[in-house]
Formats: sequence, structure tokens, C-alpha cells
Amino acid sequence: MLFRDVAGCYEKLEGISSRLEMMGLLSQLFKGAGKGEIRALVYMTQGILAPNFEGVEFGVAEKMLEEAIAIATGHTKDEVKSLYEKRGDMGAAAFELRKGSKLRCMSEDELSIGDVYGRMLKVARTSGQGSKDAKIKMLAAVLASASPPEAKYLARYPIGQLRLGVGDSTILEALSISMTGGREAKKELENAYNLCSDLGEVGEVLAKSGISSIKSFSIALFKPIRPALAERLPTAEEILEKMGGRCAVEQKYDGFRCQVHKDGKKVRIYSRNLEETTGMYPDIVGYVHSGIKAEGIIFEGEALAFNESTGEFLPFQETIQRKRKHGIEEKAAELPLHLFAFDLMYLNGKDYMMEPYEKRRSALEAAVKGAKGISPTARIIADAPRELEGFFEESIENGLEGVVAKDLSAPYIAGAREFSWIKMKRSYKGQLSDTVDLVIVGYFLGRGSRAAFRFGGLLCAVYDRVKDRFETISKIGTGFTEANMEAFRQLLDKSVVRAKPARLESEITPDFWVEPRYVVTVRADEITKSPMHTCGRQRDEEGNETGYALRFPRIVGDGFVRKDKGAADATTTKEIIEMYRQQKRIGLR
Ligand code: ATP
Repeated sequence: MLFRDVAGCYEKLEGISSRLEMMGLLSQLFKGAGKGEIRALVYMTQGILAPNFEGVEFGVAEKMLEEAIAIATGHTKDEVKSLYEKRGDMGAAAFELRKGSKLRCMSEDELSIGDVYGRMLKVARTSGQGSKDAKIKMLAAVLASASPPEAKYLARYPIGQLRLGVGDSTILEALSISMTGGREAKKELENAYNLCSDLGEVGEVLAKSGISSIKSFSIALFKPIRPALAERLPTAEEILEKMGGRCAVEQKYDGFRCQVHKDGKKVRIYSRNLEETTGMYPDIVGYVHSGIKAEGIIFEGEALAFNESTGEFLPFQETIQRKRKHGIEEKAAELPLHLFAFDLMYLNGKDYMMEPYEKRRSALEAAVKGAKGISPTARIIADAPRELEGFFEESIENGLEGVVAKDLSAPYIAGAREFSWIKMKRSYKGQLSDTVDLVIVGYFLGRGSRAAFRFGGLLCAVYDRVKDRFETISKIGTGFTEANMEAFRQLLDKSVVRAKPARLESEITPDFWVEPRYVVTVRADEITKSPMHTCGRQRDEEGNETGYALRFPRIVGDGFVRKDKGAADATTTKEIIEMYRQQKRIGLR
């Protein structure tokens, strides 16, 4: 497939907002790709080179790209820089300069998708001494072989600014249409994606072996499984009713979610966000090596700072200190973590995903038995609200967040928020019982005393999974420290875009739009109806358009962005509507 056709499709995608049309265009593109090209095409459309857990990064700064464009088009670095600043888009700068360039296209042959992807991968894999110059040269060479529209996307890709406005869910649907003619296969494709977290692989298996192979897709060691997520219900009665009168209730720990894969001597740990984080946990890797006898295992748990001699849980503020790039071993010795194991997906050649919770749990207990630093989560089996409440109160008294109730007969449901797990957290009067995770889509300049920081607050959104779009729900202007404001501005400045991001619905215009990428955890007093925000917006009986908003929102957690969540992991519109209903129900009691 020629890269010219890919760039042509991307160009059209940017110009439309209808999801149906987008899927039509994308499915045509996927249809035109060869079986050996689809993986690269999917990754490129996602704006990545490989799935998150492989940790392949371009390692290309904007300055390097400016230099590459300068070389490829015969301009000076300053000319490139000034045009980039003027347009606010490296792609537009590359397009214009390539178009006006006296340097002719360097290559006789047209670029193919395979060439482009292979060369970009080489750029990413070039490291060590002298790598910066080598990367610039490689980028310049590929840009020099490109036509202006191709140069636009080649310039955006390495700096993570593809801006196509398509999310994973749209890609899945387009894959379904391209290979089967309809959207029906999306569910199966999504299921396969949930099992391997690699959309390129799903596309390739579909193209090479057809939908039957997708249907029989299974988990594999060292391919992280997208995590099961918990629904919310506010009372023990409602939880038990939903669970059919009897369920397991586990303590809920606030730390780092760890998915551990072990095959013989090889151990890898993956985060909530499916990044490989093995290096962060030398202590846990040690516990797995020394204490887990199974040859092959995939299991999940929550790691947190814990005083082994007193049995005391340390607060999240302590645990978070383990998130670091330097001095890891020293900090691990000073603040060791304990892994509370809560689920098992694979053991010695057997896939446990479809086994009921009870069976997974007993195999898990046997597998971690006697391991230093690892133990199963504390739990009870409850069949009366009193029992569930009693265990909940006990957990809170022990300094924990609450409990997670689990359906005894449910399989492990990867990548979905289902009622097979229901969380119950401590709720305070006048506060929403749970925090929400919002994606930053813009920021405001400071006024008055904040003017000095050029930062006055955030515009935040939730994610509508069905529409694959972001919808605003809140402006957050309080609770920032001075250091925090500076940090936010510095971080967000790198993701500022000139126009409203492609997948965002917003009636509010902030001083700066930000590419939806960073997630913050927010507590609020209440969810209210609002004409200002687009979250869940509908026309009411009087004909007014109202959405949902947060009352008195403030950032919690460590007060900054969550590194373990991406934009598509933000709280969904559907969850907000459900939380609003629950809040009303509780209010009526
Ligand atoms: P989510 O992970 O659900 O998107 P979140 O990261 O904000 O949201 P919560 O909603 O507070 O976290 O709770 C779910 C998380 O609780 C899980 O992702 C897991 O990391 C953690 N957890 C702690 N204890 C348990 C347990 N016993 N069973 C399952 N998850 C647990």
C-alpha cells in the first residue's frame, strides 16, 4: 500500500466529524492494505509504533524534527521553527515547506506504508551516543522522499501529534467492516483486544486467519490482559441484590495495580495502563522468584507500602514515593511493598479466564501460599447486608478505601466495567461517594494573583465510549498549589493545539486547547445538570439542552496527572449518568 493513500485518507479523516463517515473511510483504508501491512497501518493510525507494553518510543523532540524538516526542505532551522510557531502544527509546517521546497523529491520510488513504518521503527530503535544526529538524518531522509501531504503526517507521527480524531473503538469497528462487511464482529475483535492489548496484532490475525481465529483468541504470557474494572453501588443491600444474595467481599487497597507474568525465570509486571513497569518493583520481582513455585502464572494484585511487623497499611502518599526513575533499589529497601493478590488468569498451561471467581481464587491462594511479600486479599463471603457492612467498616478502620464485592460465579471480564465486581467506598456527607477520572482538554490563564503563573484552571472531560468522543463536564479552578500550577502549565504547554481537539464536544472555549491525553482524579460534592457542559447532553421536556456538571470539583490523589491512566480510561458518560441516578436515589431515602 502506498503511503500516499494513507496520507490521503488521514487528510480526509481530519476534515470530518461524523463517526459513521470516519468508519467508512478507515474501513476502506484497511481493506486496501496487504495482510502483512495491516499491523503497521493500525499502529500508525493509533499514532504509536508498538503497543504500550513494548515500551517503544520515538525519542524525537520537536527541535530534532525541526532540524530534519530544515534539511529535507532546504530551509534554516529558524525558518522551520517560526513557521511551526505560527501554525501551531508541525505537520502544517512540513507540508508548506515541502511544497515550496526547491529540493526535489529524493526518491524515484513512492513510499509504501511498510517503508515508512520500518524507517520510523529504526529511528525509535537508534539509541546511545550520536543517536540524536543519526535520528535527525533518518527523519530528514524519509521527509525528503515525501510529497507535501505525506510530509504532514510524517512530521506529526514521531512527536505524538497525529490528530486524526480516531480512538481504538473506531479502529475496531472499522476493522470489523473492512474484513466482514459489517459492524457485528466488533464485539469479538474487542474481546481479542482485551486479551492481548495489541490492536495491531488483532488486525493482523483477522487479516491473515479470519474471524474464526479472532473468536478463538486466547491470552498469552507477556501480553498484558486489559484489566477488569469495578462498577459502583452505594449500599450493601443493592450490592447483594445485584449479586443474587451472596458474594465475596474483598478489602480494597489503594496502591499500584500490578499484573504479574512469570514463565520460568522470566518475570514481568504491567501497570493498570498496560505499561511494563517491572523495573519499578525489584522487591516484588524478588518475592515472585523466591515464593511462587508455579512455572507459568499470570495473576493480579495491588501493591502498597505495608508494615509487615505491625500489619499496618501505609497511606497512598507513602506508596506513591515508590514511583521513581532513580534510586529505586534504595527506596525499595526503605519502603518495601506488599502485593495483595486478587485474581488469577493463567497457571501452568491452563487458561483460567473463563473459570468462575471461586475456582480462580482457590487456585490463586494455593499459588501464592507461603510467598514472602505476597498474600491473597483479605475477604469474606457475605449473604447479608450486615455482614458486608461490618467488613466494610472494618476495612475503613484499618485505613483502607473500602471493599470490592465479587460475583462468585463470574469469569474474569477483561477490559470492561461490569457488575461482577462492585466497589463500595467511604462516602462523606455532601460528597460524591467516588472520585472520577477526568481528561484535561484545555486550560485557562490565571487572572489576578494567578496571572504570574499563566495558569488559572483546567477544562476537563469524560469519555463517551459509544461515540468514541470526549465531552466536557467541569472547569477546575481550585485546589492548586503554586508548584502545581507551574507543573501543570509546563506539562500542558507541550500538548497545546490550536483548534478544538478532533474528538471533543465542547461549548466552552478555554484559553488553550489541550490534546486529550492527561487524566486527573477529581472529587466533587455532587453531579448537577448544566447547560454549559456537553457530558450526556440531552434536550429536556422544556426543550433546553442540558448536560451534567460537577459541583465543587477539586483534584485529589497526588494532586497531579495520573500516570497509570490514558484518555480512554477516563470516567465515561454512562458512569456519570449512573452516578447521578444513584445520588438521587440516595437523596430520596
Ligand atoms: P478503575 O481502576 O476502576 O478505573 P480507579 O483506578 O480509580 O478506577 P477504583 O475505581 O478506586 O480505582 O478501584 C478499582 C481499583 O482498585 C482496581 O483497579 C485495583 O487497582 C484496586 N483494587 C484494590 N483492591 C482490590 C481488590 N481486592 N480487587 C480488585 N481491585 C482492587
